[in-house]
Amino acid sequence: MINLSSQASRRKLRSVFDDLSRHHGPQYWWPGETPFEIMVGAVLTQNTAWSNVEKAIGNLVARNKLDAAAIVAARKDHLAGWLRPSGYFNVKAARLKNFCRWYLEAGGYEVLQQVETGALRQALLGVNGVGKETADDILLYAFDRPVFVIDAYTRRLFARLGLFSGDEDYDAMRLAIEQVLGPDVPLFNEYHALIVRHAREICRVRPRCSACVLQPRCPASQ
Ligand code: SF4
Repeated sequence: MINLSSQASRRKLRSVFDDLSRHHGPQYWWPGETPFEIMVGAVLTQNTAWSNVEKAIGNLVARNKLDAAAIVAARKDHLAGWLRPSGYFNVKAARLKNFCRWYLEAGGYEVLQQVETGALRQALLGVNGVGKETADDILLYAFDRPVFVIDAYTRRLFARLGLFSGDEDYDAMRLAIEQVLGPDVPLFNEYHALIVRHAREICRVRPRCSACVLQPRCPASQ
């Protein structure tokens, strides 16, 4: 159940951001030197900690392979070896090759930057191995598009705060949040980063409610 229809819920969504921002400070996301590095990170971060992604990207950088053409040309077993720290390395090698092949065939960043957001999202979702969360990470953080990323942390935090039940359809949840907040890339960027930070440190599976800045407004507070 999406509970963002009332004014109170809309205000709550905004004030949650304000509280998280005051508490945690700026997050400076997404970690990555270039849009292409951000895209590679988005593909590799599925089911693993970010520190493991950094090691895998470090392996690519050390071999001068953080480049779409170099990744497509690399032997799959070599690529899998470089990606080993990120886990599921054979699957991720195949996914990264798929992604890079699509990226090159589509014309690269300059061309893709001109594509309208909905069409770009559809194109990303057509790449084998790119799901909605990965596509939206790429849209928001590599292409600066106003797309709100929904992940397990977002579901957990917003469900505990009573804004969602947590099991809603991905796009229904995304669109509801985008509508309430309005198209705002810096806000979406920072809000998602703060949700991840808060869910990892405070609103964990076993929440640390006594340390939570959101406790006064949280119906799930323990
Ligand atoms: S009060 Fe507890 S359950 Fe609510 S958001 Fe904070 S940590 Fe999560």
